[in-house]
Amino acid sequence: MKAGKARLSALLALFAAASSAAAPSAAPATYAAEPERLEILKPWERPPGAKPPPEIVAGIYERDYKRHDFANELAITIDDCSPNKYMEMELDVLKKYKIKAVFFIIGSYFVTSSGKPMPRAKELLARLVGEGHEIGSHSYWHRRMDEDGYRDNRAAIGAELDRNEAVIDKLLGYHYPIRYFRPPNGAHSTPLYMLDRALLERGQYLANWTITSFDWNMRYKPGNPERLTADKVIARTVKQAREDSGGVVLLHGFETSAEILDQLLGALSVASNKRGALVFSTLDELMRLKYEERP
Ligand SMILES: [Zn+2]
Repeated sequence: MKAGKARLSALLALFAAASSAAAPSAAPATYAAEPERLEILKPWERPPGAKPPPEIVAGIYERDYKRHDFANELAITIDDCSPNKYMEMELDVLKKYKIKAVFFIIGSYFVTSSGKPMPRAKELLARLVGEGHEIGSHSYWHRRMDEDGYRDNRAAIGAELDRNEAVIDKLLGYHYPIRYFRPPNGAHSTPLYMLDRALLERGQYLANWTITSFDWNMRYKPGNPERLTADKVIARTVKQAREDSGGVVLLHGFETSAEILDQLLGALSVASNKRGALVFSTLDELMRLKYEERP
């Protein structure tokens, strides 16, 4: 437990260091909620029948928009990219709006089945990091972590997290410590203690979203009852961002998502609510808003 706390403190110091460039006057961060969360990370010691807590690992949870004030700040996150022209288009658009996003990378999309880099995989990951975005992990296979084979198997989950990190390291050519993990389909809820434990062992944070764009519903799928238009996706996302006063926005690397990204970010950049304008921020800053001890 002590070693875990030390590791977590070290990582949180990293958060402080990472964002100190943006906010040089900020006092050293303290994160009030952490020790408490570590104490409850022992489901095997919990009395039988006792209800598990709703949150275990520090991070962003889907319901946080109800429980935390994100101060009209928006963090952009992009899942399921492939190393292709759509990823490139998205990087171009983010540059235009000067937004630093977190890309949740699925390793198996960036290497062939024999482990060779896909064409452009190295180039696009290097560009991503070079332009100030962050690589998060979205697992190697994109299988739900509440499926058989993972659910009760911390070793299997850990091995997949490590495999994804190793693939990213290999493509970048140096060690890139992963800080944020987004579970496929956002599936982390109980009884996924094994995922929580695997993340904690690695000093990683769960990073779900609070604002859902539903951009995947723009893709044609047989039987998809509601195939959304670009206008609908944009209107819904802006509405939720305004109503929730900021949060973590979930977007994807699909062709349809890439095609609307400019329009969507344009709409968000001029959106406001009664508190004022919505502003683009980062996942680190939203973590700070959630966990930093206020004087
Ligand atoms: Zn995904």
